[in-house]
Amino acid sequence: MVDKVGLIYTEDYQKYNFGKDHPLRPLRLKLTYSLMEKLKLLENERLELLEPRMATREELERVHSPTYIDVVEKLGKNPNDRSISPYLYGLGPGDNPIFKGMYEASALISGGSIITADKVWNEEEIKIAFNPAGGLHHATREKASGFCIFNDIAVAIHHLKTLKRDMKIAYVDIDCHHGDGVQWLFYDDPNVLTISFHEDGRFLFPGTGFVNETGEGEGKGYSINFPLIPGTNNKSFIKLFRRTVPKLLEAYAPDVLITQLGVDTYFDDPLTQMGFSLSVYRDIAQTMKTSAKDYCQDKWIAFGGGGYLLSVVPRAWTIFLAKMLEVEIENELPDAWIKEIKKEIPNEDTPYLLWDRGEKVEVQMLRNPEIAKKIIDYTNSLIELSNEKYLPKLNKS
Ligand SMILES: [Zn+2]
Repeated sequence: MVDKVGLIYTEDYQKYNFGKDHPLRPLRLKLTYSLMEKLKLLENERLELLEPRMATREELERVHSPTYIDVVEKLGKNPNDRSISPYLYGLGPGDNPIFKGMYEASALISGGSIITADKVWNEEEIKIAFNPAGGLHHATREKASGFCIFNDIAVAIHHLKTLKRDMKIAYVDIDCHHGDGVQWLFYDDPNVLTISFHEDGRFLFPGTGFVNETGEGEGKGYSINFPLIPGTNNKSFIKLFRRTVPKLLEAYAPDVLITQLGVDTYFDDPLTQMGFSLSVYRDIAQTMKTSAKDYCQDKWIAFGGGGYLLSVVPRAWTIFLAKMLEVEIENELPDAWIKEIKKEIPNEDTPYLLWDRGEKVEVQMLRNPEIAKKIIDYTNSLIELSNEKYLPKLNKS
């Protein structure tokens, strides 16, 4: 039996669209799919292409209030409905503009994440599944937030909970923004361990994710945060990630691993101030894959997330998929894809390589040894904190 990797995709994901001036452009998913296709990953014998379906009302209500779901549905039908105050629900001009069909588009992403989780849990041969449209980690029970209308991750977690009582789920979020929605929705739940790496909330939306946010009630000790200094680079991050995540997962011993793979940590991302280059995602993917195999019953459910350079997101997620499939890919990008992005995104620098310009970032860092040292010392202190504060609690549970 060959282990399979599920990829959940449909052209209809393009309908989750806040408009042409919004940073979250659905085109990034189309370009991702196209790059995976042109690198022949979709023809791989281990890849299983899966279609999403819309999440049902019942599935959404496990996370969101009936009132909020009604609001999304009504405004999606008639964006000018004057009987509703959209701001009360985080909707309207700004981060989460109202658009026609937003209920269906959002429910489709949540449904895709349910399928992702379901396949990994129920189908023996599928060990890994990836829904790049998912990862909308900011949405809360009654509010849209940070480009996220429905929290597809929480919907998928609740779906898993219907499949096995007391299922233990570990959630690892590498998006540059704190995974606040998922954290708060399961803050008192010891069966959902949330671990978020993100740019420090003092510098970036949503302004949370500090080390003292550790959970409440029975969930105390099951919420872990690693806030990072702006400019944190590949080397420091990988050291931190490798020395914390596998140990925490080993101690927690979950039934399944869920990851949110936001790639807005890229050094040139227009919304953030982190210092990663693309090769970091290869290392992160490797650690996730090995940890899932060793400590999470060999079950890995992956979702997308942030990332606002259309020439970067497709490469990063392709790197993840290649690692999931254990395929070595060439650094040279296919000509046909380069041609496509020149046409689709003429305003961004055209990349010619998959792992680009990492050296340039490292050199920038080394030019300022004082900042470099500060980052190294700080990430080392997070490793210590993890060993001294978080690990003992998990080892006891
Ligand atoms: Zn983000």
